[in-house]
Amino acid sequence: MRSLLALLLLVQLGTPGTRSALIADRGLKPSDFPQLKKLLDNVYVFSDLHTLGYMTNDLIVITGDGVLIADGQGSAPVTQKLVDQVKKLTSQPIKVVVICSEHGDHTGGNAAFPSNVTWYAHPFSKNTLKLTERVETVTDKTTLKIGGAEIQILFSGRSHTGGDLEVYLPKEKVAFLSETYSNHIFPSMRTAQPTEWITTLKNVSKLDADFVIPGHGFIEDPALMKKELLDFSKALEYVVSETTRLHKAGLRADAAGKQANWGPYETWTGKERNAPIAIQRVFDELDGKLK
Ligand SMILES: [Zn+2]
Repeated sequence: MRSLLALLLLVQLGTPGTRSALIADRGLKPSDFPQLKKLLDNVYVFSDLHTLGYMTNDLIVITGDGVLIADGQGSAPVTQKLVDQVKKLTSQPIKVVVICSEHGDHTGGNAAFPSNVTWYAHPFSKNTLKLTERVETVTDKTTLKIGGAEIQILFSGRSHTGGDLEVYLPKEKVAFLSETYSNHIFPSMRTAQPTEWITTLKNVSKLDADFVIPGHGFIEDPALMKKELLDFSKALEYVVSETTRLHKAGLRADAAGKQANWGPYETWTGKERNAPIAIQRVFDELDGKLK
């Protein structure tokens, strides 16, 4: 009877460790990276290991007239691995790099990209990274028609960085959401716009996509990725509403951290590190300190 109960529990929870963004929880080692995942004949995701133990993901789109990459890695040697990987997949050169997240873990290696690429970035990211040459800005939606492919670069509202972009392939139904979506990682808000992020997630959830790809965390099968996107939206709403409750109770941020009830998100990857930062950021927003 006891073993039957244990079995039922296992069936309900899934394999232990799968609901996590940490590679160690799936028995993977740093030497198992980088990894390449083929989504479709012309669309791939390149992933390497973040220092915090989860994956950082980049999109590769191969067209008849060059390759588009969305996001890079945190250092030139690792982004070079991405560049080398593209060379193994196609003789087409990398022509376009989209900066979806301007944070260092996605841009620190940008020097490894060919020097003649055209960059696409939100004006906020362009400004932060001090980009001056061959840079196109995206403030709403830019549609590229390259080598038979239609590629949309979208600004769907601010989320994690302040200049967040997404790349959407309407024909292939692929949406690369970068840091607007981290799979099973407690919302990281150091430079976020907490309330606007919730709206941005609602916007990107409306995209007609079979594949929704996160900036960090595992790439699961398509149906599970969509469920995880919904869960991530719920996590964000929960964190904002729980922090708002503590703010209304008149607590200071440090005391709020001790009293916060994170419910189902207590066990999410990065909670210890990200929760105090999220509280401070939501407090700042409620106090009118965010721009
Ligand atoms: Zn990141």
